[in-house]
Amino acid sequence: NREIHLASRPAGWPTEENFRFVETDVPTPGPGQIVVRNQYMSVDPYMRGRMNDVKSYVPPFALDAPLDGAAVGEVVASEAADVHVGDTVLHGLGWREYALLDATAARPVDASLAPVSAYLGVLGMPGLTAYAGLLEVASMKPGETVFVSAAAGSVGSLVGQIAKLKGAGRVIGSAGSPAKVERLRALGFDAAFDYHDGPVRESLRAAAPDGVDVYFDNVGGDHLEAAISAMNLHGRVAICGMIAQYNATEPPAAPRNLALVIGKRLTLRGFLVNDHGDVRQAFLRDVAGWLRDGSLTYDETIVDGIENAPSAFLGLLRGENLGKMLVRV
Ligand code: NDP
Repeated sequence: NREIHLASRPAGWPTEENFRFVETDVPTPGPGQIVVRNQYMSVDPYMRGRMNDVKSYVPPFALDAPLDGAAVGEVVASEAADVHVGDTVLHGLGWREYALLDATAARPVDASLAPVSAYLGVLGMPGLTAYAGLLEVASMKPGETVFVSAAAGSVGSLVGQIAKLKGAGRVIGSAGSPAKVERLRALGFDAAFDYHDGPVRESLRAAAPDGVDVYFDNVGGDHLEAAISAMNLHGRVAICGMIAQYNATEPPAAPRNLALVIGKRLTLRGFLVNDHGDVRQAFLRDVAGWLRDGSLTYDETIVDGIENAPSAFLGLLRGENLGKMLVRV
């Protein structure tokens, strides 16, 4: 069993040296426990925060211990009455080939609805983040103009498509390459721009001449500043992530225009997906229906081999993914 430990904490951008491979025996389950052979593990932006030794909404990764995170795999041994060898489950012990856990910490997944990797993306945490952030946190209403950043990523690509499916008038996305911009247009975004092409404020103004009602922020910094400038009266901003500053060693310069929230009566609301379990049923019903009838598409970037998990994670932070970044263990 190969697993990946945190060898050291990064200052600024992480590197491969922050990770260490460790060989251990394949575990055997005790009473009530199962062993899962991981098939896919997720790498997610929030893991960067957990590499720092700071108090946050999730505890930091411990040094010289395996990292963790969402994974799906097949049960290969079970000492639990209601989980059987051969079942496919979703659980929280990625970054290793074999996971030992209490059966109560694993959730069965329905492999007939979608490929099991989807439970780490469109049907999992990123999907619920997009759905709850857009519809609950930002209360998007039909006819409104929606802007989303990191729009070709896992959460962002779903935000834009869900907005269209729920009747948004105009959907705009920003992303980091021409290929991603092209992909956004193919996914049904009304406008898309590469944020390297010029100041975000100008690109956004050109893409949203009538202003923005809802901004779904995945990036922070100059994206948030540009959105605040473009927001219409009573606009709502769902603050989901600020990936532009996760590797920064200095506080961000932007947004410098926060005072605009007063006159425009804006709502800026941070949220965590974990607080939105109440919409999970509605989310699964809607998304399962859209997947079945083909109205929702999702991209995955799959990196093969657990030995490449650190580079997949570093690649995610650099934007090497289209849609959900996954490791096939
Ligand atoms: P993504 O699939 O969107 O991957 C991250 C993307 O961020 C990259 O592909 C890259 O795309 C983009 N990016 C990286 N650096 C920058 C930068 N400096 N400026 C602009 N874009 C950048 O990841 P997720 O969909 O998993 O997560 C998206 C956001 O949502 C993150 O901020 C994450 O922290 C947050 N999140 C928050 C949750 C919550 O509960 N609040 C839950 C889940 C996610 P590009 O090529 O376009 O630059």
